[in-house]
Formats: sequence, C-alpha cells, structure tokens
Amino acid sequence: MSIQLGMPQSRDSVGPGLPPARPAGTPSGLLDQYGRRATDMRLSLTDKCNLRCTYCMPAEGLEWLAKQAVMTADEIVRIVRVGVELLGVRELRLTGGEPLVRADLVDIIAALRSNHPELPISMTTNGVGLDKKAAALKAAGLTRINVSLDSLHEETFAKLTRRPFLDRVLAGVDAAWAAGLGPVKLNAVLMRGINDAESPALLAWALERGYELRFIEQMPLDADHGWTRRNMITAAEIRSLLSVDYVLSPDPRARDGAPAERFEVRRRVAGAAGPLGSDAEQLGAEGPVLGTVGIIASVTEPFCADCRRTRITAEGKIMSCLFSREEFDLLGLLREGASDEALAERWQDAMWVKPKAHGMDHTGLGAADFVQPDRSMSAIGG
Ligand code: SAM
Ligand code: SF4
Repeated sequence: MSIQLGMPQSRDSVGPGLPPARPAGTPSGLLDQYGRRATDMRLSLTDKCNLRCTYCMPAEGLEWLAKQAVMTADEIVRIVRVGVELLGVRELRLTGGEPLVRADLVDIIAALRSNHPELPISMTTNGVGLDKKAAALKAAGLTRINVSLDSLHEETFAKLTRRPFLDRVLAGVDAAWAAGLGPVKLNAVLMRGINDAESPALLAWALERGYELRFIEQMPLDADHGWTRRNMITAAEIRSLLSVDYVLSPDPRARDGAPAERFEVRRRVAGAAGPLGSDAEQLGAEGPVLGTVGIIASVTEPFCADCRRTRITAEGKIMSCLFSREEFDLLGLLREGASDEALAERWQDAMWVKPKAHGMDHTGLGAADFVQPDRSMSAIGG
C-alpha cells in the first residue's frame, strides 16, 4: 500500500502554478520582497528512497512520481545553467529522495561540472550504496558530501530508518572520505527516547574520524504527521546533552547564511560544570579544540531572515522555502519550449513571494497557527 499526499496550493488568481509578476524594475537575481537574495540552490533528483526514516516517510512508502514527471538529466543541467548563468546561483546541493537511486547520477554530475568548473556541488545522501559510487562521484566532479547518520547502533538505526542498513551506510561514509569527498558532514536527527541519549557518542565518533556532525532539529515534514513541538528535541536540549562530555564555544568563523550554527568542541573536565555559555562553563574545558559540531535549529532558533536558499523539486517545481505551501512550475514551462530568459523570469517571480518566515516558532508548544506542508521532506528535497 502507498500513501498519496495532497499537492500544495497554486495561485488561481494568476493561473495554476503561476506566481504573480514581481514589480517592474526589480533588480535581477533571486531576490525576494524582504531583501534576501538566494544563491544556494537545492535540487532534488528524485522523490524515491530506499529507506523509510520515521521522521520523513511512512512505512508503506509514498506513491512515487511517474517517470515522465521527473526532470531528465538534460533538463536538470539546463535549469542549473539558468540558475548559475542568469540568476547568481553560487552553490548547488543535490538531494532527494535518495540521489544515489538515480542510475544517471554520475553522468548528471559530470555534465554539471563540465558546464560549471568552479561551482561547489555537494550532495546529501543516506549513504546506502555510496561505498560503490564514491570514487566515480568524485571523478565526475562532486565537491563534497553530507551523509545522514542518526545512530551507530544497528537496532536503533533500523528502528529509525526501518531498514537494517547501518553497515552499508558506515562503509559509504568511509568510502566518501577515502575518495576525497571531504570535508564529510554527517546529519543526525534526534528523536526523543530513541537516539537522543546517543548524541555525545555520535559526536565522539565523528570527532575521532574528522567528520563534521550536524544535529538537525526534527521539523514537521514527516508524511505521517507525527511531529509535535512538545516531543521534538530542541537545539537547547542538544547543547545540554552534549555538555555532559564537552564544552561548546561559538565557532569564530562567520556563519555566512549557513543553516548550521557551528561550535568548537573541547573535552569537559570530569565533574566541572557551570551554566551553559557562562565563564564557569568555559573554565570546565580542557585540552585542544577537537573539531566542530553544527546545530540546525530550524524550529526553535530559525534563521529565515538570512535564508539564501532556493529549491527545485524532482518534478521541476520552484519552492522558495521548505515550508512553503505554494510552489511554481518551471519544468512545464521548459517543456513548452521557453527560452532561458523566460525560465529565469518565472524563477525570479516565484522567489519574490518567498514567505518572510515559516511561523513554526511563533506558537509555543501547540504550533496552533502553523500548517504543516502537504509534501514530506523526501518529496521536497531536504
Ligand atoms: N535521502 C537523503 C538523506 O537522507 O540524506 C537526502 C534527502 S533527506 C530528505 C535530507 C535530509 O533531511 C536528511 O539529512 C534527513 O535526515 C533530513 N530530514 C528528513 N526529514 C526531516 C525532518 N522531518 N526534520 C528534520 N530533518 C529531516
Ligand atoms: Fe529517505 Fe532521506 Fe527521507 Fe530517510 S530522510 S526516508 S533517507 S529521503
């Protein structure tokens, strides 16, 4: 059995899937009415996935998009070229669904690299099958990789992803490192009572190997609609969980629009304590900086005001925000034979109406006025 999700709303006043035209004289680029400029493009290669993470997909899976609805390799390459050459896109992240399930992944990356020799191209993956593909991805021109890894315990991993593939993911992480796809970043979502207590051990493991771990607050983007504000693990809790073993101090490097707030990590002297962020707490640190850890606090400490992202779903829809309830068709226009300039125009109009903020943080524990988007994270491209 599969579950079908409702589609986001389109603007009927201007035609389904069409954004209103932005005011004349608006400077070019992916600007919005609040003065933000998107330069970081997230492109979903597929909605399909071989895991069923509880915070993302239902156990039964979702109804996959029809093959002809998904962007072809040539269409992806063209859309990226419009973004880079006409609209000021400066970095590209490939995501999904699971990008590794696309048979033409290496060819897509090679084509993107040939068009854009200097563009940073990274990819977010669950790591299943990465051991076999890492070297080819590097050779094709992939710059860097993010691998999702929520637990180092087989049972916990299987509970979270509903698949027994921990060994394959660990082999993928090692292979990515060996292939030169570093710095390797690891993404972990903490779920209360399942893997939250494992967070210091996950950090220790990452630090020993030189991987940069980032904890992501669980967002209400699960197809099961099981997220609750009360039950999610907040950034404050994550800092507190880590502070039993480590002292975190803000990374002096500029955040520069990055979703993750980075901290330098030092070991805590056994028994030394003090309120988080206080001088006494810092005095509890010993030894050198072991590495960094990132916390992506999209729910409780949102960074909407400095957001630089624009998203293209696997079926070529523009989403200006993960939580947007509107999306605008780019692929349909491309398939009608539109020029590069017309595609750029549509993309700019769609970004102009990017919401000011997602609103999840406004409502305290109940999140009463926040409406969860219809698409799950896997169907948007996280
Ligand atoms: N399948 C790949 C993977 O898992 O890395 C790429 C797509 S996945 C949607 C991208 C990232 O989104 C992963 O790191 C995953 O942990 C994260 N993610 C998925 N659902 C989430 C949710 N509800 N809240 C926070 N992060 C989520
Ligand atoms: Fe698949 Fe990634 Fe979603 Fe997990 S988080 S179900 S790996 S798309």
